[in-house]
Amino acid sequence: MSGIESVVPTATGAHVTVLAGTPLHQLNELLWARGLSMQNLGDIDTQSVAGAISTGTHGTGSAFSGLAGLVVGLQVVLADGSVVDCSRDQGPDLFHAARLGLGAIGILSKIILDCPHAFAMHAHEAPDTLDNVLRDLPHICETVDHFEFYWWPHTRRVLTKRNTRLPLDTPLKPVGKVTGYISDEFLSNLVFEQTSRLCTRVPAIIPRMNWVAARLLSEREYTDRSYRVFVSSRRVRFREMEYAIPVDALPGVLADLEKMIDTSGELVSFPVEVRFAAADDVWMSTANGRDSAYIAVHKYWRQDYEAYFRAVEEIAVAAGGRPHWGKIHWRTAADLREVYPHFDAFSAIREKHDPQHLFGNDYLAKVLDYRIPAEPV
Ligand SMILES: Cc1cc2nc3c(=O)[nH]c(=O)nc-3n(C[C@H](O)[C@H](O)[C@H](O)COP(=O)(O)OP(=O)(O)OC[C@H]3O[C@@H](n4cnc5c(N)ncnc54)[C@H](O)[C@@H]3O)c2cc1C
Repeated sequence: MSGIESVVPTATGAHVTVLAGTPLHQLNELLWARGLSMQNLGDIDTQSVAGAISTGTHGTGSAFSGLAGLVVGLQVVLADGSVVDCSRDQGPDLFHAARLGLGAIGILSKIILDCPHAFAMHAHEAPDTLDNVLRDLPHICETVDHFEFYWWPHTRRVLTKRNTRLPLDTPLKPVGKVTGYISDEFLSNLVFEQTSRLCTRVPAIIPRMNWVAARLLSEREYTDRSYRVFVSSRRVRFREMEYAIPVDALPGVLADLEKMIDTSGELVSFPVEVRFAAADDVWMSTANGRDSAYIAVHKYWRQDYEAYFRAVEEIAVAAGGRPHWGKIHWRTAADLREVYPHFDAFSAIREKHDPQHLFGNDYLAKVLDYRIPAEPV
């Protein structure tokens, strides 16, 4: 189920009906050919549109929502086999639940996305210090369309990424083939894989390795089609946990995180990724009702991750954090009800449309507090 079914022009771009299984990389090309773009994207483009919105996939940009916030209509196959269209005006409760439905509401078959006219994007990556970034954060978030940074634990160094939206007719200056290979493939994937293996065998070298990595970071700028700037190649396997916290809590949470790493003896070779999103009104969105900062922590897949992730989770939860639905966490329905104002409304819609829990599974039983029926339905 992939491809674009229809395009209805709007003042700012178009409402595009997409078949739910369309991979984002395919969608980006299809949109571009029609003079359209995705408003925002995460780090990769291999997900299906349905998988991405159903788990709350987001990118960065304090004026932009995650992908579910761009949905203006849906077609859902419900547990009883009925096929239902919904939007803000037509079945709004089903719409609010199903546009980030965790697979619990029904099977999405079509998704209508609000897409802007195609735009180019200028990328500026630069090394900096954590103190500088935190000091200037409100100003940076206000003036840069899509800002994120990576902080190397055991150092005070960061890599900042500032992406600025530009008109479509801006001359493009993409990363050259050789530079792109060295930076994005050789260093970010091949060398990183080898250093990750080395750090797993000899963890004591991690602080020194991070110190070296943070000093090797260099500045670069390029301009390309928006979707090519949003997305990167990620080929080193890792485990990840990510928490959305109120944006004002970010400096305190990072300070607690650094203190925890320094005092626990935890050795962390992967940088901590920090991103931003505007408040949205998607019921189960990690940014529902509040401007949010995202803190993502990673461990190379051959390394133990649980003690580190649990310690980070404790810090994020104390700040009112909400875990990414598609990444590792240990929160349960009782915890999540506390941080999602629409948790019970979502549960009521799920129960109404799937009373026999056809779409239940172990993960949903944990986070949505419903029992999988003893007998198969
Ligand atoms: C390397 C990597 C980088 C990532 N970067 C980011 C990032 O930058 N930002 C971010 O927020 N996340 C990120 N993620 C997480 C990723 O976006 C989510 O895990 C996403 O859900 C995966 O999409 P998928 O198509 O593989 O989903 P799938 O695994 O196919 O589906 C995920 C879930 O979505 C639901 N679902 C799927 N299809 C349907 C359907 N048709 N109807 C109803 N429900 C459905 C189901 O509940 C399913 O379990 C990253 C993941 C990886 C592995």
